[in-house]
Amino acid sequence: MKLLFADRVIIGDGEQVMQEAAVAIDESGRIVAVDTQEEARRKYSQADVTRYNGCTILPGLIDLHVHIGYWWSKPDAAQYTDGMIALLASSNLREALSLGVTTIRDVAAPDGLCGTLKRAIKKNMIVSPRLFEVNQGIIMTGGHGWPLKGGLREANGPWEVRTAVREQVRAGADWIKLMTSDRTPTPEFTQEELDAAVDEAHRLGRKCCVHASLQPAIQMAIDAGFDTIEHATFLTVEQARQMAEKGQVWVPTMVTFFQIADHFKKAAEEQAAVKGLVNEQFMKQAEFFLESQKAYRENFAKLMETRVTIATGTDIVLDGYPITPVAEEIRLMVELGMHPLKAIQAATQNAAEVLDQGDTFGTVKTGNLADLLVVKGDPLADCTALSQVREVFLEGVSVFART
Ligand SMILES: [Zn+2]
Repeated sequence: MKLLFADRVIIGDGEQVMQEAAVAIDESGRIVAVDTQEEARRKYSQADVTRYNGCTILPGLIDLHVHIGYWWSKPDAAQYTDGMIALLASSNLREALSLGVTTIRDVAAPDGLCGTLKRAIKKNMIVSPRLFEVNQGIIMTGGHGWPLKGGLREANGPWEVRTAVREQVRAGADWIKLMTSDRTPTPEFTQEELDAAVDEAHRLGRKCCVHASLQPAIQMAIDAGFDTIEHATFLTVEQARQMAEKGQVWVPTMVTFFQIADHFKKAAEEQAAVKGLVNEQFMKQAEFFLESQKAYRENFAKLMETRVTIATGTDIVLDGYPITPVAEEIRLMVELGMHPLKAIQAATQNAAEVLDQGDTFGTVKTGNLADLLVVKGDPLADCTALSQVREVFLEGVSVFART
């Protein structure tokens, strides 16, 4: 039996915070009590006590939009063999834990990579957050991201889309992912194809997510009945209401759009002096991300008010950035008007419920697995405290600590 004492415990349900509280964890890695420190000490007098002065305990964070084996943006991408990609993924998984992320959903990786990682995790060959995954993403021929060989499966027509869904299930996918918009208003899959994908995924007992950034792809994805809609950058209030009504969850992944927009701004400044380098294609890309950033800034608060369920995903694909900056996504949500408790709920309870695991992890409550994040400071007063990671527990076992 272990007792963790902290200045406060954020439960993760968007409401409750306990001051001067204790979390009791048993040998099986489950939370057996969340109590006052006095009461916990009385009940479990034999337990080992760890006291985190000036710290906050909250549920381990969940990242619903990760590409754990994303190597295509590496400057030496040509040298990435399958083995190298697996090593990169393993190092990314360890980094995710160090950022307080205890569960991830990978939403497109080279064929078979995530299945291999899941087997390696089970055999204790690597330390990793809990991993849910889609195997490959499904796109139309030449659709979003098509040159990223291995991570994407091209399919056309409702029956081939169904075949592609079945292939992912055969490979061990927990979820199904489609991508249906790129950087132009032309949607990629037809409604018939999207409907077929959702029907097939659900028929085989898998939930499904969809990359849709622009109109009308967003509306088509809502109509098809995807369980989560990724990005939905230009989502309207009316559409957010439809999603709330249908129980569809929005995973905005703002952090990646903000990072890429800033990256383009910086690159444009640096290259402005060098004539010819800022070409038309570069400007088109830059424009898309700057417009995206503007849309999130202008609309997030209004969309939030519709009570559409929002959950965190990060989608980092640029080389040189931390792989799962969920804390940064939470910070952005707060900056754009969300209450810190609700933003933390987006990264904990909401995301766990998306994965149908709300009764297993995602909140600090009795009976749940002890996936816990201990941070220095008070994230409710200052969100950046979420980046001050002291210790991370996965099922009661310490997987990262910084003194
Ligand atoms: Zn993505």
